[in-house]
Order: sequence, then structure tokens, then C-alpha cells
Amino acid sequence: MAAAAAPLAAAPATKGSLREDLTCPICCDLFREPVMLGCMHHFCKPCISRYWRTTHGPVTCPQCRKEFTCKQFQTNYLVAAMVEKVRASTSHTYIQNLEKQLRETLENHCLRREDLSNSIRKEKDKMETIKRLGADLQARVRGEFGALRQILHDEETRMLEQLRREQEEELEKVQHHLEAIKLAMREVEENMRVLEEASATTENIVLTELPQLRQCPQVDSAPELDTNAFSSKYLAPLQYITWRKMFKSLKPGPSPLTFDVDTAHPSIRVSRDKTVAVEYDSVTWHTDNNKRFLQCVNILASQGFYSGRHYWEVEVGTKPKWDMGVASEAVDRHSRIKLSPERGYWTLRLRNRNEYSAGTQPWTRLQLSSSPRRLGVFVDCEERWVSFYNADDMSLIYSYTNGPRGKVFPFFSPCISGSSQEPQPIRLLHYPPVAMSG
Ligand SMILES: [Zn+2]
Ligand SMILES: [Zn+2]
Repeated sequence: MAAAAAPLAAAPATKGSLREDLTCPICCDLFREPVMLGCMHHFCKPCISRYWRTTHGPVTCPQCRKEFTCKQFQTNYLVAAMVEKVRASTSHTYIQNLEKQLRETLENHCLRREDLSNSIRKEKDKMETIKRLGADLQARVRGEFGALRQILHDEETRMLEQLRREQEEELEKVQHHLEAIKLAMREVEENMRVLEEASATTENIVLTELPQLRQCPQVDSAPELDTNAFSSKYLAPLQYITWRKMFKSLKPGPSPLTFDVDTAHPSIRVSRDKTVAVEYDSVTWHTDNNKRFLQCVNILASQGFYSGRHYWEVEVGTKPKWDMGVASEAVDRHSRIKLSPERGYWTLRLRNRNEYSAGTQPWTRLQLSSSPRRLGVFVDCEERWVSFYNADDMSLIYSYTNGPRGKVFPFFSPCISGSSQEPQPIRLLHYPPVAMSG
């Protein structure tokens, strides 16, 4: 009984683990059926019962030595529950389960990491593409401007060379005249010398006849120097003249298209010079041919393209509806079909005055800041691009990047105008520089 009387070391006041807090000071294991004495110290119910078993009369707390008159304690359910939790959390299956969760979470993180690393690679690839494309485009822009500068440079060289030649010719003319005058001068001076000599000798001898004189060459009167004629060509509005000439060298410059009357739907009338097309209520019957559109109010240009880059401009004015673009040579012209790249049409369309769309299926609605009166169409046969521009300010309206393969023709539809409106034409624009060529 004396052995049980030895006081137990007090639990360290420092912050221990929960497991330490729930350890019985007698058996040094997790509490089994924890009970609390009047002094608030806890022990396992079997441990404290065993500790007090041999004692009769008052008993003491093994930890703080407080005396109690009888063997009395209270079951502490809260501590019991906590002990159960700690015990469960250190069990073999619990740990196995925890390890499994750990492995799975790690695996998930590995997968996630791989995903993220793929994303990083993709974004880096994108950046590389942007840089490569940017460099290509820079080279292209430099090339285009270089070509323009070359045209200007060549024109400047040509004009300076012409000026040099004309200056030379003018100088040569004057030089020629000058030589003739100098020759006449020498002859006159020679005659003067002979005459002076003769005059000197007359003091000694009687002069019987005039000395022999040279024939003086006749010098034509010099033409007046016409500085105006010489400079007029170079005092002209040089920049504008050069700019007009540059037009002819632009690649591509605006193509001077004409309508192909043989393709015109019977209700389309074309002007004599084939640059204006209007839709009328009445139909004109032509001899039939395979090229003609019979169902839809369409017409093509005579000029087809199958290689290179081409640009043309069309005036639509304030027409409330129209379609235009390019059509494959092979399009079906005898049936009514929906315009789309799949059917061989790459078009821009206007409806109700201000509803612009790209002619995809379904249509792609476009928001334009202004209503163009003139449109530019650009086709790059090699890159398979078809682009539409507002030719009033050259802003890009829409681009097809899945353009045509094979031969295409500029395509137009004046559409059927409402009966209340005067039909408005579609006009193919020809620029003066083009008319100047040849
Ligand atoms: Zn115990
Ligand atoms: Zn105590």
C-alpha cells in the first residue's frame, strides 16, 4: 500500500501534444474509461481503482496528494470521447487510409502539374508563333514600302537623268554658237591685223590696192534662251504627276474591271462601257449561254484570276442592298442557291441599308462604324485570302482565310430593288492613272 502512496510527477505545464494530455499518469497510456477526481486530475478508472484498492479510509490523489474522505470520482465523457478520437486517428487502418489519401492527392497534384506544364508549353508556343508571325509581317511591310521607295527612287533617277540630258543639250547649243562666234572673231582680228599692217606701210609706199582679206564667216543670230521652256517640265506639280505614275506600278493596283454581259441575269442591264450594272423590273432576253445566271440577280466581271494578288473597287453609293465578292468559275448559275464559301462564293452583303454581313452559312453579322459608298475587294490566290475594305478610308471590313482554289471571277448582285425605289447601280471604278496607261 505504501508503493501506491508515492506521488506521480506532475504533467509538464508546457504545451504538449493532445495525446500527452490524454495520457494517464499511472499507466502512461491513453486513458481507458477516464475519470476525474475532486482535484480535477484524470486517471483511468481501472488504474485509480487499483491504486486505491488496498487503502481503507481517506485516499489521496496520486498526482497532487489531495486527500479525499472516500473513494469518489466522476466519469468524464468529454475526455473519453477525445481519447476515442485520438485512438482512432492513430489506428492502423486509419493510418493506411490516410496514406492512401496522401498518395492519391499526390497523384492528383502530379496530373495537375502536368496539365499546367502543358498549358505553359502551349502559351510559350503561342508566344513563339506571335513573334515569328510578327517578324514575317515586319518583313512584308518593309518589302511593300521598299517597293514603293524603289518606284520613287527610280522615278527620281529617271527625271534627274532627263534634266541632266536637257541641260547638256541646251549648253551644247550655246557652246556651238559660241564656237562659231569665236571663229568669226579670229577671222575679224586677223583681217584687222592685215589692215593695220597695210596702214603702217602706206607711210613709205603708195598703196595700190587693198590687202587681201579673209572671208568673214556669217554667224547666225543666237536663239534667245527660253528659260521657261527649259524649266516648265520641272516646275510642274511633280509630286502629283509622280503619284499618278506610281499608280501604274502598284502591285496590286486597282484592276479596271468590266462586267461580263454574257453572265448577267436577264433583269440586269449593263452600260455601254460595261462599268455600270442596274437591276430593272423588266427582263431583257438574250441568247442563252452556259455562263448566264438564270435564277439569281447576279453578274460577274470579264476578268478572272487564278494566280497572284488582285484588288478592285466598286461604288455602291447609298444602295440599300447588294452582294459582292468573288465566285468560283465553276459555280452553278442555273439554280437558286445560298451564297457561301462551300458553294463557291466569298461575299459581303448589305440588307436594309445598314445590316452588313459576311456571306457565311449562317451569315456573320458585322458592325461597321460607317456605311461605305465605295468598297475594295482584295484576293490573294496563293494565300487564299479574300478581304473587303471600306474604300472611303481603306479600313478592313472582313477577311476570309479559307479562300478559293482555282479560277475566280469578281462577283456582284445588285439585288432586286423595292418597287417604290428608283433602282441604283453598281459601278466598277476605273482610276485616271489606269486610263493614262499605255
Ligand atoms: Zn491508467
Ligand atoms: Zn489531484
